[in-house]
Amino acid sequence: MDNSTDNSNWVTCYVGLGSNLANELGSPADHLQQALAVMRAHEQVREVSVSSFYASAPMGPQDQPDFVNAVAGFETTLTPYELLAFCQQLESMAKRARLRRWGERSLDVDILLYGETQIIDPTLTIPHAGLSERNFVLIPLREVASNLTIAGKSISDYAQSRDWTGLTLLSSD
Ligand code: ADP
Ligand code: MG
Repeated sequence: MDNSTDNSNWVTCYVGLGSNLANELGSPADHLQQALAVMRAHEQVREVSVSSFYASAPMGPQDQPDFVNAVAGFETTLTPYELLAFCQQLESMAKRARLRRWGERSLDVDILLYGETQIIDPTLTIPHAGLSERNFVLIPLREVASNLTIAGKSISDYAQSRDWTGLTLLSSD
């Protein structure tokens, strides 16, 4: 179907992906690639663009491997809570197990922004609570949304006012 002629409400949103645990399904980068493939195939998702992949030092416990992080931007007709369920489905597909808070995981998919929507709910907070403080979110987000403004401040202002400590470019394909 040609989506350009339908009447659905397509909302631009951004998700952050992270992994620092290999398992029988693949490496951290494989987990991100597999999630992105499922995302691209979803009929309520279109126009997916993906940042470079980055290596980043872990938050929380330091005795765990660096994360591979990326940000994806796309349009969706999923509601915010439906999108959260989809993100959690992607985590389940990567056989994510919760070991410890801020600990290692095969896949973490967080909603960063959903159009202009603001939600404050423990189950779903949008914009994501850590958005403006995390290099591993801001730098890849700027790649896929260079004109973005968050709370009146441009994404390049956020990103430029920081250094790149803890973040290393892995690939830009
Ligand atoms: P974290 O991402 O903080 O490392 P989890 O992935 O385990 O931790 O998520 C914990 C909870 O955060 C989820 O069960 C989810 O309901 C909630 N949550 C709140 N806001 C968001 C958001 N914007 N994106 C994803 N999860 C969120
Ligand atoms: Mg999460």
